[in-house]
Amino acid sequence: MKDCVNKKTNIARCNCTYSGCARHGICCECIAYHKDLGQLPACYFDKVAERTYDRSIENYLKQRGGT
Ligand code: SF4
Repeated sequence: MKDCVNKKTNIARCNCTYSGCARHGICCECIAYHKDLGQLPACYFDKVAERTYDRSIENYLKQRGGT
């Protein structure tokens, strides 16, 4: 995986609590990974929803009060 010149800044504002992931701070890799799975990255989720590690669009809509 390539490194990123913005990694330190990105990590400072990243809310992802999944510590085992090598994509932390490399947002393009993070987005591409979850997009390929039909998901959204951690930064779309509030604290409670993020901690479930359920990155599905359904979970995103649920936290927003949708169906
Ligand atoms: S949101 Fe997913 S890909 Fe991004 S850092 Fe967290 S676990 Fe890794």
